[in-house]
Amino acid sequence: MKKYIGCDLGGTNMRAAIVDVEDGSMVYQMSIPTQARDGHDAVMRRMAGLFLQMIEWAGMKKEDVGGIGIGVPGVLDLEKGETLFLPNLPSTWPHIPLRDTIAKLTGLPVALLNDVRSITNGEWRFGAGRGVDTVAVFAIGTGVGGGLVINGQLHLGIGGTAGELGHMTIDFTGPRCGCGNYGCLETYSSGPAIAAMGMKAVSQGLTTQISELCSYDLNRITPELIEKAARAGDETAMDIYERAGFALGIAAANVCVSIGPRRIILAGGVSQAGDLLLIPIRRTLRERVTVMPVEHVEVVQSQLGNNAGVIGAACWAAKGL
Ligand SMILES: [Zn+2]
Repeated sequence: MKKYIGCDLGGTNMRAAIVDVEDGSMVYQMSIPTQARDGHDAVMRRMAGLFLQMIEWAGMKKEDVGGIGIGVPGVLDLEKGETLFLPNLPSTWPHIPLRDTIAKLTGLPVALLNDVRSITNGEWRFGAGRGVDTVAVFAIGTGVGGGLVINGQLHLGIGGTAGELGHMTIDFTGPRCGCGNYGCLETYSSGPAIAAMGMKAVSQGLTTQISELCSYDLNRITPELIEKAARAGDETAMDIYERAGFALGIAAANVCVSIGPRRIILAGGVSQAGDLLLIPIRRTLRERVTVMPVEHVEVVQSQLGNNAGVIGAACWAAKGL
């Protein structure tokens, strides 16, 4: 059985692994700085070099590798194999032929997929989504990404753009989102949105442990710091996670009535807060969803952590190539 390479292209680092797609194990893995400022041509050359070096260092031959899957942080044209808009990379990569360039430089077939859809695919195949056919993933970090598996298939929609659960409207009179819409989930539940609630509480002079934990320096407030205060019983901090979890619960309720998922998975750095988010999400689902059997929907944390993206991208390549 051939192995496949999975890659997670990030703004800071690119991670790659040679993956056994039968069991989801990583045979070999590497991570190098993306150095995105050097521009897309340089980044693609470094990426191809990483793949070839990894094959060599793993003691394998190119013929042992069936192909490469790349998880890309942004909007893609899956048919043309191009990047359309990567908001976190300099120059945003408009119409860059990533698929064909890497294929040419490595001599291996390449498949692209959005980075959170890669995480979704990884968690579904070998992580928290194993064994069920309909899954929704909310990946909470700097933004809120998403992905859907419906009836045993990763749901792609037009050009692979479906599943952007972070841009589901929660309040149509809400604040402007980075995407241009108003009141998106991301404006309530992303890492920066949670940190901003902490900053507001401190600057309003509320009595909260967040103030001491950040030494009254608003720039030091992070979701982790607020989590620490919440775990120590600080009511303001608990309320912040309660509000973020409520917005996630409303979004999850919309997903429940849309696709009837067996499992809803929280991924991304902020999901480490665990019960602080899971409890309000589960409660909101019970309170708000009446037209489908919401008691059968499990809300759980991801299992593969940082490896979900590379494993999912490799499995995507194995399926599509
Ligand atoms: Zn938005």
